Amino acid sequence: MPMCLPTAAVCSWQRCSMCDCCKSCGRPVTEDEAAMTKKLINRGTREYMCIPCLAQYFDVTQDDILDRMAYFKEMGCMLFPCNQEKLKEKNYG
Ligand SMILES: [Zn+2]
Repeated sequence: MPMCLPTAAVCSWQRCSMCDCCKSCGRPVTEDEAAMTKKLINRGTREYMCIPCLAQYFDVTQDDILDRMAYFKEMGCMLFPCNQEKLKEKNYG
């Protein structure tokens, strides 16, 4: 069962070597951060931002971004990998 917590957003750089980098600071973004960029800026974007840079962009705190992320996840937003996993379980489980 994959964990689906807001804290996962500030995770592991290791698993991000395949991912895109933050367009603002160049840090590799997680899948969650990429999903948040899509949610907050543009669903079709190919440029992503990390949580700290998203917070700066919208002039809010990182906690605000993480809260919003937790909310989107709870709503079952399919941009987030954890919800895609859930759907798979529903379909094939
Ligand atoms: Zn950044």
